[in-house]
This record gives sequence, structure tokens and C-alpha cells, in this order.
Amino acid sequence: MSLIVQKFGGTSVANAERVMNVAKIVTDTFAQGNDVVVVVSAQGDFTDVLVDKQMEINPKASRREQDMLLAAGEQISIALLAMAIEKLGYHAVSLLGWQAGFETSSSHTSARIKRVDPSRIREALDRRNIVVVAGFQGLSRYGDITTLGRGGSDTSAVAIAAAMHADLCQIYTDVEGVFTADPRKVENAKKLDEISYDEMLELATLGAQVLNNRSVEMAKKYNIELEVLSSLTRAKGTIVKEKSKMEKMLISGVAKDTDIARISVTGVPNNPGIAFKMFSKLSKKDINVDIILQSIGHDGKKDISFTVAKSRGQEAVDALKDYMESHGASGIQLDENVAKISIVGAGMESHAGVATKMFEALYDAQINIQMISTSEIKVSVLIDAVDADKAVKAIHAKFFD
Ligand code: ADP
Ligand code: ASP
Ligand code: MG
Repeated sequence: MSLIVQKFGGTSVANAERVMNVAKIVTDTFAQGNDVVVVVSAQGDFTDVLVDKQMEINPKASRREQDMLLAAGEQISIALLAMAIEKLGYHAVSLLGWQAGFETSSSHTSARIKRVDPSRIREALDRRNIVVVAGFQGLSRYGDITTLGRGGSDTSAVAIAAAMHADLCQIYTDVEGVFTADPRKVENAKKLDEISYDEMLELATLGAQVLNNRSVEMAKKYNIELEVLSSLTRAKGTIVKEKSKMEKMLISGVAKDTDIARISVTGVPNNPGIAFKMFSKLSKKDINVDIILQSIGHDGKKDISFTVAKSRGQEAVDALKDYMESHGASGIQLDENVAKISIVGAGMESHAGVATKMFEALYDAQINIQMISTSEIKVSVLIDAVDADKAVKAIHAKFFD
């Protein structure tokens, strides 16, 4: 007998028919003689509906209360799925995050999982139940409900798989696996049979939302093999694991991130220590900086541009404005209409010309590059947001057609 963790995202449980479909998948797995722990997300876009409700009342609501609200979506779906499983003649127990033993940090709306104590899940399994756990949520040491950040249910599933030494962790979603680009945006995107943790981590971090990046980080840390597959077709999916034969592929995918803003500080004095002072203002506010570009100095002045998450853009400008201007900078601009397009692949390390090929695709499509950043397994460019989809298609075509 194996222990299998199966996670189902919002689309997979969006309505009664879909919930019954999930109950069928889960009970089939149980009937084959396995212990089954199921992790579910809120139905459809219900979490967005809850965010809208908050915005109507108080956009600046405390993060504790935001979590109290956001965690409600998953409570509905676990109860409905447990009822659907009962209807098929099996025993099921639904558990909220805290009941399932999720202890998290107290950073509301982006809490980190500290520990999962799976004893209650274990007891329920021992009594031959299918256990249905609410994803995306836990409890802080102050006894408050927390959530893990959007898309966090993937991480809940991997955390249970790690804590219980599961034999398999399956992430069921609305596409048949991990593709070379978002299959909803790029028609001829190809499904990957396998992908390594490192490449998947980059793709997820750079905008491929099919897996939450923290879930991949955790899967790598605890060596949990993941399978990403469709709850609708049940076709063979993509395996995410340590070493993959795909590793020798030149690139494994193209990703797009539009949740990004560019800040440019112009006419900064070209003196030692200026970058240090500027970025320490931001790190004090816990604002992460991504791509950084500094111009060559001219006439004793230089320009520094960098990117941050869109949600932190204005805050970053506010943190810098007075200070930079009092130190001689001529201006500071915020541009929220940008997108980061990236290619990821472990194979590029040993191949010259990969970045050139990407730039050529952008040139052919007449798309201007604002910034560039590279590492051993990725190349990212910052471009105008209106060109984002066109850029992904052009780059994908260059590498995969
Ligand atoms: P779930 O609700 O099941 O967690 P998500 O919406 O979070 O599903 O993630 C699945 C979506 O990720 C797909 O519908 C697809 O549009 C998108 N996606 C983006 N990039 C990729 C990619 N490279 N491969 C597969 N899906 C991708
Ligand atoms: N329901 C949450 C969200 O929409 C968590 C998840 O889907 O993983 O972000
Ligand atoms: Mg998701």
C-alpha cells in the first residue's frame, strides 16, 4: 500500500460536476489499495471574489483580517469534496489547515510553513478515511489563521507529502502538465515529460503559474517527486524531479511575468557608495530588487534602473524620492507597464548563442529590450507590457518550431 497526496486546484473543483469528478479520481486511487490525502483549493476564482469583497469594504484592511477572509474559500471546497466522496460510498474526513497540523510563521498573507504535525491526518487514514485537507492555510503561534500567499495550495500538498513521506505527490490542474510555454497563450506549446527541480523552480519564479515556486523549492529540498497532470483528461502528466533527461534540452520553456515595475533614478552623482545607500533604503523596507542596470557615468552623473514587484513599486519610489533628490539625483520614474520575459534551460550553460537567439526573435518581432539579466540557466529581458504575449510567441517559435 502506498500513501498518495493528490492536490486539486480551483478549476478542478469549480462546480458540482467537477467536485464529483475529483471524488471519482480520489476514490479510484483509494480503491486500488492506497492511503489518500487530498489537498484542495477554493472553487474556481472564489479567492478573487473574496479579495473583491475586502476591497469594497476596506482596501487597507489588516493582513490578519484578510487571512480570516481568504481562508474561507478552502473551507467550502473541503466540505463539498468530503460530501461527494461520501456519496460514492467511501469514508471521508475534511480538515482545515490547523486541524491538519499546519504551523506557520505569523507573516499574514504570505506565511511560511514551519512544521506539519500530521498526527490527526494519520489517525484518520488509519480508520480508512480519505482525508481532505484545506490548502493555502495554517495557524500562527499566536493561534491566528494564516494564508501562504496566492497559489499556496501547491505548497500545502508538498508539505504534507514531505511530512508523511508520501510515495507520490500529484498536482492535478486544468492543463495536462508543464509546457514549453503557457498552453493557453501559445498554441503549439509542447508538454514536457520531465523537468528538473532547478528548471521548474526558475520557470515558476519567472511567471509560469502552473506550480507555485515555493512548492518546487520544498519538493527539491525533501526530494519529493511531483507529477503535474490534468483532472479533466487524466492523461500522463509531467514529472518534476532531481535529474531529468530533459536537462540536456537547450531550453525547457518560456515564461512571462507582468507583475513587475521598473524604477529609474536619473542623474545620480557618480560617486562610490551611491548604489549601496539607495538599495539599503529598499532592503530596510523588505522590498526585493530584481534586475539592476547602471549606466556608464558621464559628466559626473549616472542613471540606475531596477525592477521590483508591481505591488511594491510606489512604496519603493516613496522610500527613495526625498533621499535621492537631496543627494543630487535629477528624477525618479516608476513604470508599471513592463513585462519580464524569460527563457529557462539547464542546457544553455554549455551552449553559446542562446541569448543571441532570443534577442534575434525579439528583433524580428520589432520589440525593444529595456533591460537584460542572465544566470547559468536563464535569460530574462524587460520589455513593454503591450508586447509581452507577442514576445513569448516569437521566442517560443524561434526555439521550438
Ligand atoms: P490551479 O488552479 O490548478 O492551481 P493555476 O491556474 O494556478 O491552476 O495553474 C495552471 C495554469 O498555469 C494553466 O491554466 C496555464 O494557463 C498556466 N501556465 C502558465 N505557464 C504554464 C506552463 N509553462 N505550463 C503549463 N501551464 C502554464
Ligand atoms: N485559493 C488560493 C488562491 O487562489 C490558493 C491556491 O489556489 O493555491 O490563491
Ligand atoms: Mg495554482
